[in-house]
Amino acid sequence: MEFDTDVAVIGGGVAGLTAAWQLATAGRHVTLFEARSRLGGRVLTAPAAPWPDRPWLDLGPAWFWPHQPHIRALVAELTLPVFAQHQAGLARYDAGGGRAPESFDASGQAAPSYRLMGGMHALTEALAAASQRADTPVTVRLGAPVHTLAVHRDGVVIRGDDHTSTARCVVVAAPPRVVAREITFDPPLPPGVQTRLRDTVTWMGHAMKCVVTYRASFWRGAGLSGYAVSWGGPLQEIHDAGMPAQGVDDAGHALMGFVAPRTTAAARAFRDADAAARRAAVLTQLARLFGPDAQHAVDYAEYDWARDPYSCGAQDDEPPTAHPEYGHPEPDGGLATTAWGRRLVWAGTETIAMGGGYLDGAVASGRRAAAAVLTP
Ligand SMILES: Cc1cc2nc3c(=O)[nH]c(=O)nc-3n(C[C@H](O)[C@H](O)[C@H](O)COP(=O)(O)OP(=O)(O)OC[C@H]3O[C@@H](n4cnc5c(N)ncnc54)[C@H](O)[C@@H]3O)c2cc1C
Repeated sequence: MEFDTDVAVIGGGVAGLTAAWQLATAGRHVTLFEARSRLGGRVLTAPAAPWPDRPWLDLGPAWFWPHQPHIRALVAELTLPVFAQHQAGLARYDAGGGRAPESFDASGQAAPSYRLMGGMHALTEALAAASQRADTPVTVRLGAPVHTLAVHRDGVVIRGDDHTSTARCVVVAAPPRVVAREITFDPPLPPGVQTRLRDTVTWMGHAMKCVVTYRASFWRGAGLSGYAVSWGGPLQEIHDAGMPAQGVDDAGHALMGFVAPRTTAAARAFRDADAAARRAAVLTQLARLFGPDAQHAVDYAEYDWARDPYSCGAQDDEPPTAHPEYGHPEPDGGLATTAWGRRLVWAGTETIAMGGGYLDGAVASGRRAAAAVLTP
């Protein structure tokens, strides 16, 4: 049988991009199907007005940590410039209930973390570019959600609304709950795998992130680190999101915060309000924590991942109480293994035990999937 491509990769996040790049480097013809009109998945870096040519507001992941071997090795291999998260200064604690916020020393509480110059999308851009430099460049199909995967003779038939193609095998690198809802498998997957797909929490699927840009890091000048924990809402956890911006003096100053999950009425009301009301509420909270200069924002950006159908399912509104156990190697519910006589290979950060949920797990899962496809 003739195939349109050797390997179809479903999902163009860090996991799918890593798998596609590794497979193309090994000489396989890869077609990557991505539902959205952009690559990156949960990696989303927006330009900060008024510096539209400088994408650096991370509305998805921003950090990686020294103990994470796969993302560290990949960043080094792609020679991406990194810098340390700003932590110097006192943190702020807001107990809520109208009480005045207090400063406290949080040094030593958080492990040092690192960020990428230009934002995390420097990683997905570099992966996409590397996959185009391979001997057999990856064919990327954007705006091409996959709805059906069917085993056909020795290969797989991949179908979307307006596309049908064939591959020897397929790597599914979309979040498990999205796969369960969006993709029909023919023949159906074993019941244990279907249950596992539905039950696997999309890491940070509940999250909403807001980033506020300023002309100066005024909180640093006041001896504050930009880190705050707040029960006064709407943001629950706040960090300095500044980034060195070469050649522009007043660029690169920002605070970012995670909005409280939809589990409280106040958080639901905030998240369902219009964007102007949300911006006003965030600036008022930042002024309470860091001083009146916080009202004078240059820009405000936000993203509600809980309302993104290609990242999570409805159950993801509620965050898990602890970091979920990912990987699930057991034979009948396994997402770390292969299925359909090895014509179906799982990838994605939620399919890996060590580092699952993080960028580190996404990279590891992409490499593991490529190795599974290449194993004779
Ligand atoms: C707000 C937020 C903050 C985070 N912060 C951090 C952090 O600081 N550090 C860290 O390590 N991790 C962080 N994470 C987690 C990190 O983003 C993920 O681990 C990682 O991006 C997952 O990559 P992935 O490729 O496995 O999945 P995804 O990035 O979700 O990629 C899956 C892709 O599949 C596509 N897709 C879905 N359905 C279909 C379909 N039917 N057909 C075709 N394509 C489809 C999607 O559009 C998407 O592009 C954060 C996540 C969020 C949301």
